[in-house]
Amino acid sequence: MTIRHTLWRPAYIGLGGNLGNPVASLASACARLAKLPDTCCLRHASLYRSAPFGNVPQADFLNTVAALLTRLDARDLLRQLQAIERAAGRKQGGVRWGPRELDLDLLVYSNEIIDTSELIVPHPGIRDRNFVLLPLAELAPNLHIPGLGRVANLAVNTNEPRITRAN
Ligand code: ADP
Ligand code: MG
Repeated sequence: MTIRHTLWRPAYIGLGGNLGNPVASLASACARLAKLPDTCCLRHASLYRSAPFGNVPQADFLNTVAALLTRLDARDLLRQLQAIERAAGRKQGGVRWGPRELDLDLLVYSNEIIDTSELIVPHPGIRDRNFVLLPLAELAPNLHIPGLGRVANLAVNTNEPRITRAN
């Protein structure tokens, strides 16, 4: 059953991709996010280009972060994100940290802490991933993430793959 809250809640989505035409897939994913039911006010950060994480040889990733307001609950929002990934051609069960058309991660959902087999929020990779930290700091430096604190106070990782602004 879809749960709709009466209050709008802020949610932050990490977007990434390195297969096909990532600029087009991220633009199309933002357009689809903006059209989700019970969701509004989409903003997104610049695009960032980064070398891939892990040891799989593959093209550089493009990443950004989007902010929205939603009345969907976190689990329904995750399911909507997965439907957008599938619509972009993403196959289930690819290699971990392997190439993908589109990856949508629910980074932060209001001030909620969720730890289920399906969904962990805040997303556990936020602090380790410059391709999340940089666009998130551009978009919402004053955001307070449960368990992590203010985004602008989170240290950028110096031992990470190179990352540059792509636009
Ligand atoms: P990653 O994004 O770390 O590269 P995947 O996209 O392959 O990994 O992981 C998808 C799985 O992660 C899904 O089965 C989903 O249920 C689970 N998951 C847990 N928490 C989250 C979250 N906050 N956002 C997106 N997926 C999540
Ligand atoms: Mg993911």
